Amino acid sequence: MRSWPHVGIVGGSLGGLTAALVLRDLGCEVDVFERSSEALKARGAGIATHPSTTRYFEESSELDASLVEIELPWLQFLDAGGELVYQERMNYRFSSWTTVYRGLMGAFGEERYHLDSEVVDFAQDHRGVTVRLGNGASRTVDMLVCADGIASASRPRLLPGAHERYAGYVAWRAMIPESDLEPASFEVLKDGLTYCVLPDGHVLVYPIPGLEGELEPGRRLANLVCYHNYADGGEIDDLMTDRSGERQALSLPPGAVRGEHVDRFLAFADEHMPPQIAEVLHKTTGPFVQVIYDIEVANMAFGRVALMGDAAFAVRPHAGAGTAKACEDAWKLRDALRDAGGDPVAALARWEPGQLDLGRNLLERTREMGDRSQYRHTWVPGDPSLRLGLYGPGR
Ligand SMILES: Cc1cc2nc3c(=O)[nH]c(=O)nc-3n(C[C@H](O)[C@H](O)[C@H](O)COP(=O)(O)OP(=O)(O)OC[C@H]3O[C@@H](n4cnc5c(N)ncnc54)[C@H](O)[C@@H]3O)c2cc1C
Repeated sequence: MRSWPHVGIVGGSLGGLTAALVLRDLGCEVDVFERSSEALKARGAGIATHPSTTRYFEESSELDASLVEIELPWLQFLDAGGELVYQERMNYRFSSWTTVYRGLMGAFGEERYHLDSEVVDFAQDHRGVTVRLGNGASRTVDMLVCADGIASASRPRLLPGAHERYAGYVAWRAMIPESDLEPASFEVLKDGLTYCVLPDGHVLVYPIPGLEGELEPGRRLANLVCYHNYADGGEIDDLMTDRSGERQALSLPPGAVRGEHVDRFLAFADEHMPPQIAEVLHKTTGPFVQVIYDIEVANMAFGRVALMGDAAFAVRPHAGAGTAKACEDAWKLRDALRDAGGDPVAALARWEPGQLDLGRNLLERTREMGDRSQYRHTWVPGDPSLRLGLYGPGR
Protein backbone atom coordinates (compact mmCIF):
# COMPACT_ATOMS: atom_id res chain seq x y z
CA MET A 1 0.00 0.00 0.00
CA ARG A 2 1.17 3.55 -0.74
CA SER A 3 2.09 5.75 2.15
CA TRP A 4 1.46 9.46 1.80
CA PRO A 5 3.87 11.90 3.45
CA HIS A 6 3.20 13.94 6.55
CA VAL A 7 3.19 17.52 5.22
CA GLY A 8 3.86 20.76 7.11
CA ILE A 9 2.61 24.01 5.56
CA VAL A 10 4.15 27.36 6.51
CA GLY A 11 1.41 30.02 6.24
CA GLY A 12 -2.33 29.44 6.40
CA SER A 13 -3.67 31.99 3.92
CA LEU A 14 -5.40 31.11 0.65
CA GLY A 15 -2.41 29.39 -0.96
CA GLY A 16 -1.39 27.45 2.15
CA LEU A 17 -4.95 26.42 2.99
CA THR A 18 -5.64 25.19 -0.54
CA ALA A 19 -2.45 23.12 -0.41
CA ALA A 20 -3.46 21.77 3.01
CA LEU A 21 -6.89 20.70 1.76
CA VAL A 22 -5.85 19.06 -1.50
CA LEU A 23 -2.94 17.21 0.10
CA ARG A 24 -5.10 16.05 2.98
CA ASP A 25 -7.71 14.81 0.49
CA LEU A 26 -4.95 12.84 -1.25
CA GLY A 27 -4.28 11.02 2.00
CA CYS A 28 -1.50 13.06 3.60
CA GLU A 29 -1.43 13.99 7.25
CA VAL A 30 -1.22 17.81 7.16
CA ASP A 31 -0.31 20.46 9.75
CA VAL A 32 -0.58 24.17 8.97
CA PHE A 33 1.71 26.53 10.91
CA GLU A 34 0.36 30.08 10.87
CA ARG A 35 2.23 32.97 12.45
CA SER A 36 -0.85 35.02 13.28
CA SER A 37 -2.10 34.55 16.81
CA GLU A 38 -5.76 34.85 15.84
CA ALA A 39 -7.91 33.74 12.91
CA LEU A 40 -6.86 35.78 9.86
CA LYS A 41 -9.10 38.72 9.05
CA ALA A 42 -10.26 40.69 6.00
CA ARG A 43 -6.94 41.27 4.32
CA GLY A 44 -6.47 41.93 0.64
CA ALA A 45 -10.09 42.95 0.16
CA GLY A 46 -11.44 42.00 -3.27
CA ILE A 47 -10.01 39.34 -5.54
CA ALA A 48 -10.80 38.35 -9.08
CA THR A 49 -11.39 34.61 -9.03
CA HIS A 50 -10.32 32.12 -11.68
CA PRO A 51 -11.08 28.41 -11.95
CA SER A 52 -8.11 27.42 -9.79
CA THR A 53 -9.08 29.91 -7.03
CA THR A 54 -12.44 28.27 -6.52
CA ARG A 55 -11.66 24.75 -7.75
CA TYR A 56 -11.76 23.41 -4.21
CA PHE A 57 -15.26 24.82 -3.81
CA GLU A 58 -16.32 23.25 -7.13
CA GLU A 59 -14.93 19.80 -6.34
CA SER A 60 -15.67 19.50 -2.65
CA SER A 61 -19.02 18.05 -1.72
CA GLU A 62 -19.20 20.29 1.37
CA LEU A 63 -18.68 23.67 -0.33
CA ASP A 64 -20.59 25.59 -2.97
CA ALA A 65 -18.71 27.92 -5.36
CA SER A 66 -21.91 29.79 -6.20
CA LEU A 67 -21.93 31.09 -2.62
CA VAL A 68 -18.52 32.76 -2.83
CA GLU A 69 -18.43 34.44 -6.23
CA ILE A 70 -20.17 37.29 -7.97
CA GLU A 71 -20.38 37.04 -11.75
CA LEU A 72 -20.33 40.40 -13.50
CA PRO A 73 -21.64 40.75 -17.06
CA TRP A 74 -19.72 43.90 -18.12
CA LEU A 75 -16.18 45.12 -18.57
CA GLN A 76 -16.41 48.89 -18.92
CA PHE A 77 -14.35 52.07 -18.99
CA LEU A 78 -15.50 55.51 -17.88
CA ASP A 79 -13.82 58.80 -18.71
CA ALA A 80 -12.90 61.40 -16.10
CA GLY A 81 -16.33 63.01 -16.49
CA GLY A 82 -18.07 59.72 -15.66
CA GLU A 83 -19.28 58.97 -19.21
CA LEU A 84 -19.16 55.40 -20.48
CA VAL A 85 -16.50 55.20 -23.20
CA TYR A 86 -16.25 51.41 -23.64
CA GLN A 87 -18.33 48.41 -22.69
CA GLU A 88 -18.20 44.73 -23.60
CA ARG A 89 -19.76 41.52 -22.31
CA MET A 90 -17.50 39.33 -20.20
CA ASN A 91 -17.78 36.67 -17.56
CA TYR A 92 -15.31 37.65 -14.89
CA ARG A 93 -15.97 36.55 -11.34
CA PHE A 94 -15.06 38.27 -8.10
CA SER A 95 -14.97 37.46 -4.46
CA SER A 96 -13.23 38.72 -1.34
CA TRP A 97 -10.28 37.33 0.52
CA THR A 98 -12.45 36.89 3.60
CA THR A 99 -15.20 34.95 1.84
CA VAL A 100 -12.78 32.49 0.24
CA TYR A 101 -10.78 32.13 3.46
CA ARG A 102 -13.91 31.46 5.52
CA GLY A 103 -14.98 28.68 3.15
CA LEU A 104 -11.56 26.98 3.00
CA MET A 105 -11.04 27.30 6.74
CA GLY A 106 -14.47 25.80 7.40
CA ALA A 107 -13.48 22.80 5.26
CA PHE A 108 -10.05 22.33 6.86
CA GLY A 109 -11.13 22.82 10.48
CA GLU A 110 -9.09 24.12 13.38
CA GLU A 111 -7.59 20.92 14.74
CA ARG A 112 -4.46 20.86 12.56
CA TYR A 113 -4.39 24.63 11.86
CA HIS A 114 -1.90 25.91 14.40
CA LEU A 115 -2.22 29.61 15.15
CA ASP A 116 0.57 31.51 16.87
CA SER A 117 3.04 29.13 15.23
CA GLU A 118 5.64 31.19 13.43
CA VAL A 119 8.19 29.01 11.67
CA VAL A 120 11.55 30.50 12.60
CA ASP A 121 13.82 27.88 11.06
CA PHE A 122 13.87 24.52 9.32
CA ALA A 123 16.48 21.98 8.29
CA GLN A 124 16.20 18.86 6.19
CA ASP A 125 18.07 15.60 5.84
CA HIS A 126 17.33 12.40 3.93
CA ARG A 127 14.63 11.41 6.46
CA GLY A 128 12.58 14.57 6.79
CA VAL A 129 12.35 18.28 7.58
CA THR A 130 12.56 19.54 11.13
CA VAL A 131 10.66 22.75 11.67
CA ARG A 132 11.38 25.05 14.59
CA LEU A 133 8.57 27.26 15.83
CA GLY A 134 8.76 30.65 17.57
CA ASN A 135 7.31 29.17 20.75
CA GLY A 136 10.31 26.87 21.06
CA ALA A 137 8.55 23.68 19.88
CA SER A 138 9.84 21.67 16.94
CA ARG A 139 8.09 19.26 14.59
CA THR A 140 9.40 16.83 12.00
CA VAL A 141 7.52 16.29 8.74
CA ASP A 142 8.27 14.44 5.49
CA MET A 143 7.67 17.46 3.29
CA LEU A 144 7.46 21.19 3.98
CA VAL A 145 5.47 23.61 1.80
CA CYS A 146 6.37 27.27 2.33
CA ALA A 147 3.35 29.45 1.52
CA ASP A 148 4.42 32.36 3.69
CA GLY A 149 3.62 35.12 1.24
CA ILE A 150 5.38 38.13 -0.22
CA ALA A 151 7.47 38.80 2.90
CA SER A 152 8.45 35.12 3.18
CA ALA A 153 11.32 34.39 5.54
CA SER A 154 11.61 30.95 3.93
CA ARG A 155 12.63 32.46 0.59
CA PRO A 156 15.90 34.08 1.74
CA ARG A 157 16.61 30.97 3.82
CA LEU A 158 16.37 28.83 0.66
CA LEU A 159 17.62 31.39 -1.87
CA PRO A 160 19.79 34.03 -0.20
CA GLY A 161 20.12 36.03 -3.45
CA ALA A 162 16.38 36.48 -4.18
CA HIS A 163 15.21 40.04 -3.53
CA GLU A 164 11.99 41.92 -4.13
CA ARG A 165 12.04 44.84 -6.57
CA TYR A 166 9.85 47.89 -5.99
CA ALA A 167 7.70 48.45 -9.09
CA GLY A 168 7.61 52.23 -8.57
CA TYR A 169 3.97 52.46 -7.54
CA VAL A 170 1.41 51.43 -4.95
CA ALA A 171 -2.21 50.34 -4.89
CA TRP A 172 -4.53 52.64 -2.99
CA ARG A 173 -7.51 50.56 -1.93
CA ALA A 174 -10.92 51.29 -0.43
CA MET A 175 -14.18 49.48 0.21
CA ILE A 176 -17.61 50.85 1.08
CA PRO A 177 -21.05 49.25 1.35
CA GLU A 178 -22.82 49.56 -2.01
CA SER A 179 -25.76 50.94 -0.06
CA ASP A 180 -23.66 54.06 0.73
CA LEU A 181 -23.37 54.93 -2.97
CA GLU A 182 -25.61 57.53 -4.57
CA PRO A 183 -28.31 55.63 -6.54
CA ALA A 184 -26.95 56.96 -9.86
CA SER A 185 -23.40 55.76 -9.03
CA PHE A 186 -24.70 52.37 -7.90
CA GLU A 187 -26.52 51.97 -11.25
CA VAL A 188 -23.28 52.59 -13.16
CA LEU A 189 -21.03 50.38 -11.00
CA LYS A 190 -23.24 47.48 -9.93
CA ASP A 191 -22.88 45.12 -12.92
CA GLY A 192 -19.37 45.79 -14.06
CA LEU A 193 -15.65 45.69 -13.65
CA THR A 194 -15.25 49.44 -14.19
CA TYR A 195 -11.93 51.04 -15.14
CA CYS A 196 -10.76 54.56 -15.77
CA VAL A 197 -7.37 55.38 -17.32
CA LEU A 198 -5.62 58.11 -15.30
CA PRO A 199 -2.47 60.16 -15.81
CA ASP A 200 0.33 57.74 -14.78
CA GLY A 201 -2.01 54.95 -13.72
CA HIS A 202 -5.53 53.59 -13.63
CA VAL A 203 -8.32 52.92 -11.19
CA LEU A 204 -10.83 50.07 -11.09
CA VAL A 205 -13.93 49.33 -9.06
CA TYR A 206 -15.90 46.10 -8.76
CA PRO A 207 -18.46 44.68 -6.36
CA ILE A 208 -17.36 42.00 -3.88
CA PRO A 209 -19.33 40.03 -1.29
CA GLY A 210 -20.40 41.86 1.87
CA LEU A 211 -18.55 41.25 5.13
CA GLU A 212 -20.83 38.32 5.98
CA GLY A 213 -20.65 36.95 2.43
CA GLU A 214 -23.76 38.72 1.07
CA LEU A 215 -23.99 38.39 -2.71
CA GLU A 216 -27.17 40.35 -3.50
CA PRO A 217 -26.71 43.69 -5.29
CA GLY A 218 -27.06 46.50 -2.78
CA ARG A 219 -25.79 44.36 0.13
CA ARG A 220 -22.30 43.87 -1.26
CA LEU A 221 -19.22 46.13 -1.04
CA ALA A 222 -17.82 48.38 -3.76
CA ASN A 223 -14.08 47.61 -3.93
CA LEU A 224 -11.65 50.16 -5.38
CA VAL A 225 -8.01 49.76 -6.44
CA CYS A 226 -5.97 52.66 -7.85
CA TYR A 227 -2.36 52.36 -9.02
CA HIS A 228 -0.37 55.51 -8.29
CA ASN A 229 3.34 56.25 -8.73
CA TYR A 230 5.68 57.22 -5.88
CA ALA A 231 9.35 57.59 -6.78
CA ASP A 232 11.77 55.24 -5.07
CA GLY A 233 13.53 56.90 -2.15
CA GLY A 234 12.02 60.00 -0.55
CA GLU A 235 8.50 59.82 -2.01
CA ILE A 236 7.73 56.20 -1.18
CA ASP A 237 9.52 56.45 2.18
CA ASP A 238 7.33 59.39 3.13
CA LEU A 239 4.08 57.72 2.03
CA MET A 240 4.92 54.50 3.88
CA THR A 241 5.82 56.28 7.12
CA ASP A 242 2.65 55.74 9.09
CA ARG A 243 0.86 57.94 11.63
CA SER A 244 3.09 56.61 14.40
CA GLY A 245 6.23 57.57 12.44
CA GLU A 246 7.26 54.02 11.48
CA ARG A 247 8.32 53.16 7.94
CA GLN A 248 6.24 50.15 6.84
CA ALA A 249 7.57 47.93 4.07
CA LEU A 250 4.52 46.34 2.49
CA SER A 251 1.24 47.95 3.43
CA LEU A 252 -0.57 50.53 5.52
CA PRO A 253 -3.89 49.33 6.94
CA PRO A 254 -6.99 51.56 7.17
CA GLY A 255 -6.28 54.47 9.52
CA ALA A 256 -2.49 54.27 9.20
CA VAL A 257 -1.96 56.49 6.13
CA ARG A 258 -0.98 60.02 7.20
CA GLY A 259 -3.64 62.70 6.67
CA GLU A 260 -1.63 64.80 4.22
CA HIS A 261 -1.25 61.82 1.89
CA VAL A 262 -4.96 61.00 2.05
CA ASP A 263 -5.82 64.64 1.31
CA ARG A 264 -3.42 64.80 -1.63
CA PHE A 265 -4.77 61.56 -3.05
CA LEU A 266 -8.39 62.72 -2.68
CA ALA A 267 -7.53 65.96 -4.50
CA PHE A 268 -6.01 63.86 -7.31
CA ALA A 269 -9.15 61.70 -7.38
CA ASP A 270 -11.42 64.77 -7.62
CA GLU A 271 -9.43 66.12 -10.51
CA HIS A 272 -8.97 62.94 -12.55
CA MET A 273 -11.46 60.23 -11.57
CA PRO A 274 -15.07 59.77 -12.66
CA PRO A 275 -17.31 61.18 -9.89
CA GLN A 276 -18.91 57.74 -9.31
CA ILE A 277 -15.45 56.34 -8.49
CA ALA A 278 -14.13 59.31 -6.50
CA GLU A 279 -17.26 58.92 -4.37
CA VAL A 280 -16.02 55.52 -3.13
CA LEU A 281 -12.84 57.18 -1.87
CA HIS A 282 -14.67 60.05 -0.21
CA LYS A 283 -17.04 57.69 1.58
CA THR A 284 -14.55 55.13 2.85
CA THR A 285 -13.67 55.35 6.52
CA GLY A 286 -10.03 54.68 5.72
CA PRO A 287 -8.24 53.99 2.44
CA PHE A 288 -5.28 51.62 2.69
CA VAL A 289 -2.12 51.15 0.69
CA GLN A 290 -0.22 48.13 -0.65
CA VAL A 291 3.22 48.54 -2.22
CA ILE A 292 3.68 46.73 -5.52
CA TYR A 293 6.78 44.53 -5.73
CA ASP A 294 8.09 42.05 -8.27
CA ILE A 295 9.54 38.87 -6.83
CA GLU A 296 11.08 36.17 -8.93
CA VAL A 297 12.90 32.98 -7.95
CA ALA A 298 15.13 30.56 -9.84
CA ASN A 299 13.88 27.50 -7.92
CA MET A 300 10.73 26.38 -6.14
CA ALA A 301 11.82 22.85 -5.14
CA PHE A 302 14.60 22.21 -2.63
CA GLY A 303 14.70 18.50 -1.87
CA ARG A 304 11.74 18.00 0.48
CA VAL A 305 10.90 21.72 0.70
CA ALA A 306 8.64 23.63 -1.71
CA LEU A 307 8.25 27.38 -2.12
CA MET A 308 4.84 28.40 -3.53
CA GLY A 309 2.41 31.29 -4.07
CA ASP A 310 3.65 34.81 -3.37
CA ALA A 311 6.59 33.38 -1.43
CA ALA A 312 7.97 32.25 -4.80
CA PHE A 313 6.67 34.75 -7.37
CA ALA A 314 4.86 37.93 -6.34
CA VAL A 315 3.34 39.40 -9.46
CA ARG A 316 1.75 42.78 -10.12
CA PRO A 317 -2.00 42.56 -9.56
CA HIS A 318 -3.13 43.69 -13.05
CA ALA A 319 -4.12 40.19 -14.20
CA GLY A 320 -6.04 39.61 -10.94
CA ALA A 321 -4.32 36.26 -10.68
CA GLY A 322 -2.00 36.17 -7.64
CA THR A 323 -4.31 34.01 -5.54
CA ALA A 324 -5.17 31.88 -8.54
CA LYS A 325 -1.46 31.22 -9.06
CA ALA A 326 -0.99 30.24 -5.41
CA CYS A 327 -3.95 27.83 -5.67
CA GLU A 328 -2.70 26.44 -8.97
CA ASP A 329 0.70 25.75 -7.34
CA ALA A 330 -1.20 23.77 -4.70
CA TRP A 331 -3.29 21.70 -7.13
CA LYS A 332 -0.27 20.91 -9.29
CA LEU A 333 1.65 19.84 -6.17
CA ARG A 334 -1.16 17.41 -5.37
CA ASP A 335 -0.95 15.98 -8.92
CA ALA A 336 2.84 15.64 -8.74
CA LEU A 337 2.73 13.90 -5.37
CA ARG A 338 0.05 11.50 -6.59
CA ASP A 339 2.02 10.74 -9.78
CA ALA A 340 5.23 10.23 -7.79
CA GLY A 341 3.48 7.69 -5.57
CA GLY A 342 3.91 9.84 -2.46
CA ASP A 343 7.68 10.37 -2.76
CA PRO A 344 8.19 14.06 -1.76
CA VAL A 345 11.57 14.58 -3.44
CA ALA A 346 10.47 13.02 -6.75
CA ALA A 347 7.17 14.93 -6.59
CA LEU A 348 8.79 18.31 -6.09
CA ALA A 349 11.25 17.69 -8.92
CA ARG A 350 8.27 16.91 -11.22
CA TRP A 351 6.28 19.91 -9.99
CA GLU A 352 8.89 22.63 -10.23
CA PRO A 353 9.36 23.25 -14.01
CA GLY A 354 5.69 23.93 -14.77
CA GLN A 355 5.24 26.24 -11.78
CA LEU A 356 8.42 28.17 -12.58
CA ASP A 357 7.05 28.70 -16.10
CA LEU A 358 3.70 29.84 -14.76
CA GLY A 359 5.30 32.32 -12.34
CA ARG A 360 7.72 33.71 -14.92
CA ASN A 361 5.07 34.14 -17.60
CA LEU A 362 2.60 35.80 -15.26
CA LEU A 363 5.25 38.10 -13.85
CA GLU A 364 6.38 39.12 -17.32
CA ARG A 365 2.82 39.78 -18.51
CA THR A 366 1.78 41.76 -15.44
CA ARG A 367 5.01 43.76 -15.46
CA GLU A 368 4.27 44.76 -19.04
CA MET A 369 0.68 45.69 -18.12
CA GLY A 370 1.91 47.78 -15.19
CA ASP A 371 4.66 49.53 -17.12
CA ARG A 372 2.21 50.41 -19.90
CA SER A 373 -0.21 51.86 -17.37
CA GLN A 374 2.19 53.71 -15.10
CA TYR A 375 5.00 54.83 -17.39
CA ARG A 376 4.30 54.37 -21.10
CA HIS A 377 0.67 55.53 -21.12
CA THR A 378 -0.49 53.02 -23.73
CA TRP A 379 -3.57 51.69 -21.91
CA VAL A 380 -6.52 52.02 -24.26
CA PRO A 381 -10.06 51.14 -23.16
CA GLY A 382 -10.90 47.67 -24.45
CA ASP A 383 -7.32 46.60 -25.29
CA PRO A 384 -7.60 42.78 -25.25
CA SER A 385 -4.10 42.32 -23.81
CA LEU A 386 -5.21 44.06 -20.59
CA ARG A 387 -7.68 41.33 -19.62
CA LEU A 388 -7.51 39.42 -16.36
CA GLY A 389 -6.35 35.81 -16.49
CA LEU A 390 -3.91 33.34 -14.97
CA TYR A 391 -2.55 31.73 -18.14
CA GLY A 392 -3.07 34.66 -20.53
CA PRO A 393 -5.44 37.57 -21.14
CA GLY A 394 -8.94 36.26 -20.52
CA ARG A 395 -7.74 32.73 -19.77
C1 LIG B 1 -3.47 45.45 -4.72
C2 LIG B 1 -3.55 43.97 -4.86
C3 LIG B 1 -4.64 43.40 -5.52
C4 LIG B 1 -4.73 42.02 -5.68
N1 LIG B 1 -5.79 41.52 -6.37
C5 LIG B 1 -5.85 40.19 -6.61
C6 LIG B 1 -6.92 39.64 -7.38
O1 LIG B 1 -7.83 40.34 -7.84
N2 LIG B 1 -6.93 38.30 -7.61
C7 LIG B 1 -5.94 37.50 -7.13
O2 LIG B 1 -5.99 36.30 -7.41
N3 LIG B 1 -4.92 37.98 -6.39
C8 LIG B 1 -4.84 39.31 -6.12
N4 LIG B 1 -3.80 39.80 -5.41
C9 LIG B 1 -2.70 38.90 -4.99
C10 LIG B 1 -3.02 38.10 -3.78
O3 LIG B 1 -3.35 38.94 -2.70
C11 LIG B 1 -1.80 37.22 -3.41
O4 LIG B 1 -1.19 36.76 -4.57
C12 LIG B 1 -2.22 36.02 -2.61
O5 LIG B 1 -2.88 36.44 -1.44
C13 LIG B 1 -1.01 35.15 -2.24
O6 LIG B 1 -1.40 34.18 -1.32
P1 LIG B 1 -0.34 33.35 -0.48
O7 LIG B 1 -1.15 32.32 0.27
O8 LIG B 1 0.78 32.92 -1.34
O9 LIG B 1 0.31 34.40 0.56
P2 LIG B 1 -0.35 35.34 1.67
O10 LIG B 1 -1.79 35.55 1.45
O11 LIG B 1 0.53 36.54 1.78
O12 LIG B 1 -0.21 34.50 3.02
C14 LIG B 1 0.99 34.25 3.69
C15 LIG B 1 0.65 33.69 5.07
O13 LIG B 1 1.84 33.21 5.70
C16 LIG B 1 1.85 33.62 7.06
N5 LIG B 1 3.26 33.64 7.49
C17 LIG B 1 4.23 34.48 7.06
N6 LIG B 1 5.42 34.14 7.61
C18 LIG B 1 5.20 33.06 8.41
C19 LIG B 1 6.04 32.24 9.22
N7 LIG B 1 7.35 32.46 9.33
N8 LIG B 1 5.46 31.21 9.89
C20 LIG B 1 4.13 30.95 9.78
N9 LIG B 1 3.30 31.69 9.02
C21 LIG B 1 3.82 32.73 8.32
C22 LIG B 1 1.17 34.99 7.05
O14 LIG B 1 0.68 35.35 8.31
C23 LIG B 1 0.06 34.73 6.01
O15 LIG B 1 -1.10 34.22 6.60
C24 LIG B 1 -3.69 41.17 -5.19
C25 LIG B 1 -2.60 41.72 -4.50
C26 LIG B 1 -2.53 43.11 -4.33
C27 LIG B 1 -1.34 43.71 -3.61
